[in-house]
Amino acid sequence: AVRVRNLHRSFNKAGGVLNGLDLDIAPGEFVALIGRSGSGKSTLLRALAGLDRDVAGHGQITVPESVSVVFQDSRLLPWRRVLDNVVLGLKVKVAAERGTQALAEVGLAGREKAWPYELSGGEQQRASLARSLVREPQLLLADEPFGALDALTRIKMHVLLRRLCEVHRPAVLLVTHDVDEAIVLADRVIMLDDGVVRTDVRIDLESRSQADPRFAELRSFLL
Ligand code: ATP
Ligand code: MG
Repeated sequence: AVRVRNLHRSFNKAGGVLNGLDLDIAPGEFVALIGRSGSGKSTLLRALAGLDRDVAGHGQITVPESVSVVFQDSRLLPWRRVLDNVVLGLKVKVAAERGTQALAEVGLAGREKAWPYELSGGEQQRASLARSLVREPQLLLADEPFGALDALTRIKMHVLLRRLCEVHRPAVLLVTHDVDEAIVLADRVIMLDDGVVRTDVRIDLESRSQADPRFAELRSFLL
């Protein structure tokens, strides 16, 4: 679903943020992206999302046709009702039905007519997930989507996201500061350092249930 080759990105003379990064993500694969603050995680996501116009010509990026992005804040438009936010720009006749169904999938049935400010932070993030899923993306990019939520809401969102991914099967690249979140959710954890993928760890059931020494290494690196 994703193929990145030799991607370079810098913002000024003071060295590169991405320094020849290579990355492949298979269709349906769930990859968590970790790395220190300022290591270039959001820069990579924006490049993949097509939100960085200046990245062109600094490497090769191939992504599928349909890509959705979820940010740390929901970015719902405050002057549109929840359902209108979810289906905004969707050019299908059954948009309202699809949106209503997506809202039900994220546990927001009946909140279609609510204004964004009437939802809690966690509910807004769920609406923002619904907005992404209704577009049936082949690639879901998420930049610390649960960063602003309390511990319990985060866990609920983990369960929800895993379930939605099992149904809709997009490839996922999820940025997180939380190694445990990465291990719980992802099939693979990659770590950015010095503008390249430094560590690439596949997570299987075995490593999820046991204390894998590689995760201790990742954790200590992020401290
Ligand atoms: P965090 O975990 O704090 O979100 P990050 O890994 O997402 O960090 P980026 O946002 O990708 O980090 O930023 C990487 C570096 O690039 C930082 O030093 C940042 O200041 C710089 N940077 C990012 N975007 C821009 C920009 N538009 N203009 C100038 N510098 C930028
Ligand atoms: Mg960031």
